[in-house]
Order: sequence, then C-alpha cells, then structure tokens
Amino acid sequence: MTRKKIAAGNWKMFKTPDETKSFFVEFAPLFSGSQAPASAIACPEVVFFIPAYDFAAAVDAVKAYAEKPKIGAQNIFHEREGAFTGELSPIGVKSAGATYVLIGHSERRSLFFESDEFAAKKVRAAVECGLTPMLCVGETLKEREAGSMLDVVSRQIIAGLSQVNPDARFVIAYEPVWAIGTGKVATNEQAEEAHAAIRRVLEGIFSEAKAEATSILYGGSVKPDNAGALAQQPNIDGFLVGGASLKARDFASIVEKLNH
Ligand code: PEP
Repeated sequence: MTRKKIAAGNWKMFKTPDETKSFFVEFAPLFSGSQAPASAIACPEVVFFIPAYDFAAAVDAVKAYAEKPKIGAQNIFHEREGAFTGELSPIGVKSAGATYVLIGHSERRSLFFESDEFAAKKVRAAVECGLTPMLCVGETLKEREAGSMLDVVSRQIIAGLSQVNPDARFVIAYEPVWAIGTGKVATNEQAEEAHAAIRRVLEGIFSEAKAEATSILYGGSVKPDNAGALAQQPNIDGFLVGGASLKARDFASIVEKLNH
C-alpha cells in the first residue's frame, strides 16, 4: 500500500502577508514540484498551515507554481457561521483558499484549553465542509516517563475521530509535546513505535484498509539533518514542521527527503 507522503509546515503566528509573498518567491525554485512536469517526480503533497491573514498573499503567490502547495488553516470553529466573535468559519477558510486544517495542536490544547471533545466537533465540521483535518496527537514528557504514551494518543485519536465515518479523509500528526520547538527530536525508534501503534488504533476504530491508507506524519523539531532517517521509517508518511518551515531552504530540503 502506498500512502500519500505529506510535508506540512506550521507557521504558527509568524509572517506578515509581505513576508509570505517573499517566502513563496524564494521557495518556488527550491521546490521540485514547481519545476518538474507533474508526473516526473513522486512529490510529496506540500501543505502550509499559515495565519488566516496570509491566505490571500499565499494564494496569489502560488499561482505561478506548476505544482501548487496546499494552504491550510491553523484552526477553525465547529459552526459554519454565527455570533462567534473572533472565530474562523470552516466554510470561510475553505472559500479563502484552504483545503486543510490543523486540529488539536498541542499549543491549542495547552494554551487555549481545547479538549478532545472540542477537537472532535472541529474534525466533523472540517469534513462536512470539505476540508481535510490534520488531527494532532502526542504525549507530554511526564506522560511518556509514566509509560502512558500509547494511552494518551489512543484517547486523543479515538475521541478526536469519534464523529467521522470511515469514508472521511483525515491525516494524523504524531507530535510528542516534549519535542515541539525544543530541539529534542524523538529517536527514529520512538517515532516509529508510536506511528505503528497509532496505525493499530486506527485499525481498531475503522479497518485495516483504512489504517493502511491513512497518512501519519511526525512532528517535533524536524530539521533537514534529521528528516532523512525519520523518513525511512515504514510508518512515517511525512512531517509536520514548525520552526524549520519558516525558512524556504530548510523546508525545501525536508520536502526533498520525502522524495526518496
Ligand atoms: C509544530 O509546531 O507543530 C512543530 C512540530 O514545531 P517544531 O518543528 O518547531 O518543533
């Protein structure tokens, strides 16, 4: 079974529209998908989760690309519209150019107290509105040291996907909290062990076929120098990259590692 490889960047709250434009100008010649004929290279899908105020600049900038990177929202609310001041509508972000949305990122869980139940509603809303949710799961250092990594990620996945049916397209990002923005990457063995376990959880919820077809990305201090070895692991189907996705050269180099 060949699963879709995905290289995703999470820009968090960085880059203005002008900086977004400059980034995509620099990224274009580095991104093989923009130069090669569509079928020449088995390119990973490339997604940028960017601030909503950068969508217009990004959509405009990637018009020049032969193979366009996808745009993703970093958050949505679970209602399509209404009196929800400050929230982002799933149909709104879709019509502004997003095809993906991040849900359950550890910063949303820890800084904004988002629960598994809230994540589940957002996953359902994303699917209903035609967005692909990327559900982020991962344990804290304390949870890992207590031996409960699998319990934590299983709970997050079972709850987060509780309102979608097996036909829905979604992606899982395994991001151990202790590796996000810390420079401490999981070892290849730790990451592979978690990804294989997550695939078994998906099999338990849905089916073996669905589990085998679902892309599971690793996130947590991925850099050009550690991406190659992680990409070789059989259950790692790509990366969700924070800091290194802000630099066109570094992110292009990580994308490249998924071409092999
Ligand atoms: C992230 O924000 O999802 C992330 C993985 O960040 P970093 O790559 O900087 O650890």
